Amino acid sequence: MYKKPFLILFLSFVGFVNSQNKYPDDYFINPLEIPLVLSGTFGELRTNHFHAGLDIKTQKQEGLKVIASAEGYVSRINVSLWGYGNALYVTHPNGYTTVYGHLKKFSPKIEKFVKRHQYQKESFTIRLYPNENEIEISKGEIIALSGNSGSSGGPHLHYEIRDIKSNILNPMLFGIKIPDHKKPTIQSAYTYTRNDSSQVNQSNKNVQLVLKRQYNGDFIANTIYAYGEIGIGINAYDRLDGALNHNGLYDLEMRVNGKKIFQFKVDDFSFSESRYINSYIDYEKLIKLKQRIQKCFVDHDTNNLSLYKALNNNGFFNVKDSLDYKVTIIAKDYEGNRTQLIIPIKGRKDSITITKKIKETPHYFKANQVNRISDSLIKVNFPKNIFYEDFYFDYSYDNGLVKLHNRSVPVHNYFRLSFDVSKYSEEELKQMYIAKKNRYGKLNYVKTRRKGNTLYASSKSLGEFILDTDKYNPKISPVGFKANQWLTKYNTLRVKIFDKGSGIKTYRAEIDGEWILMYYNPKKGILTYDFKDKKFEGNTHILKVIVTDNVNNSTTFTIAFNKKY
Ligand SMILES: [Zn+2]
Repeated sequence: MYKKPFLILFLSFVGFVNSQNKYPDDYFINPLEIPLVLSGTFGELRTNHFHAGLDIKTQKQEGLKVIASAEGYVSRINVSLWGYGNALYVTHPNGYTTVYGHLKKFSPKIEKFVKRHQYQKESFTIRLYPNENEIEISKGEIIALSGNSGSSGGPHLHYEIRDIKSNILNPMLFGIKIPDHKKPTIQSAYTYTRNDSSQVNQSNKNVQLVLKRQYNGDFIANTIYAYGEIGIGINAYDRLDGALNHNGLYDLEMRVNGKKIFQFKVDDFSFSESRYINSYIDYEKLIKLKQRIQKCFVDHDTNNLSLYKALNNNGFFNVKDSLDYKVTIIAKDYEGNRTQLIIPIKGRKDSITITKKIKETPHYFKANQVNRISDSLIKVNFPKNIFYEDFYFDYSYDNGLVKLHNRSVPVHNYFRLSFDVSKYSEEELKQMYIAKKNRYGKLNYVKTRRKGNTLYASSKSLGEFILDTDKYNPKISPVGFKANQWLTKYNTLRVKIFDKGSGIKTYRAEIDGEWILMYYNPKKGILTYDFKDKKFEGNTHILKVIVTDNVNNSTTFTIAFNKKY
């Protein structure tokens, strides 16, 4: 009870701030009818992208009602096996579009629209752009049930707000309130040297700082001795009320002797810049230590992320001999809870005893040029500006295995790798594909094409590639029914599909020779048909399912069942 007046004051203060900004703060209502608890914040650091929305927890279950945040019309519908899975885009009269992802099921009126197009196109996955008059939506209308479809690791609703130019905006700017009384935590901090003469504690390499946590949750680092241009990177997270997950910061700032020289803030960004996250974080530490260190400096010319709100000397500061400095890092969440890290620095020009070791190779790559590998059987073409910095590229081709440097160097765009396959017979080539080894050594199919005597593929990540052969046909088996069984009481028809090797590319299902829509859940490998979709004549029917893998091995499965419609 004691805290209440403060809370009211605090909330009205937030309301005041929002009413001062350029976004309407009472236009959009919450997309779920439960108190909002987040498993992901806007701008959070994810693999190859900044998170474009809020991930809202759905009480560990699927099937919660998803409601439209405001009136408008459905402007886009996606049914996809990956990404946002089943997703709806609702465009509103004020120009904004709200996006709802990983849905389980669309509302009956949307479902009907989607099904009609799926049957027309004979495809489960589909992308539709209805016009303004086709599916009108009122504010608060139930548009879907929440789910776990697409690239989702557990039931939740992914919710986005986009503007008319398709920039993605922080939904919190629109007055969504998520209780958050916890301040961010700083887990680790590193110094970075800008050039060969910069040093920290006599080292030219990155130095991890020793942090001491204060009673109030702030941090102080042990004093460091430094000279020359240096930058700082930190690993930090925020927690919200009612959830243990680690979420992203809203605002990260660095001051040197009180002067702001760096600020990063996630209010809005565009999809086209999102991959520059790999320049923003210390990518090598992500791969090697699984830590996302946010660099409070910009060290790559091509990185023009709009999320940087202040940049003085690109966030580097020059430490002079025998002067003292106080670096303050301020990490904030959206509610303004802040955690400070103070790093005392004493300027001292010393001898450098620890230097960076660079492995020199015959391939020195310049980032702003096209770089090529041209070996007897292997050709690789890296367009310009797909690397962030110049480096010695480590290449080898040994025993069929192509080593393209290693995974710890980020790649901004596609490069092309081709194998000369003239020594293989046509028969062998039919089942061959390019595979990439993942970090556990497992081979993953990379979309492979053929041109004459070469097989080629495009990739956005370095590592080990190899030619592999897929000799296995996909497997198909009925789930919950047997041949010639009476299924009159069944609502659905299910089969399990599986492919060892290159993986499933397409499937097609028919009853009595007519295409039927089977929903595919790739996480479970289950295809499901809804008996309500179609009526068939007679009592005995034939289900036929054809599954094709990525090298075109194909299996056709037929089974008879009985059903009276
Ligand atoms: Zn999400």
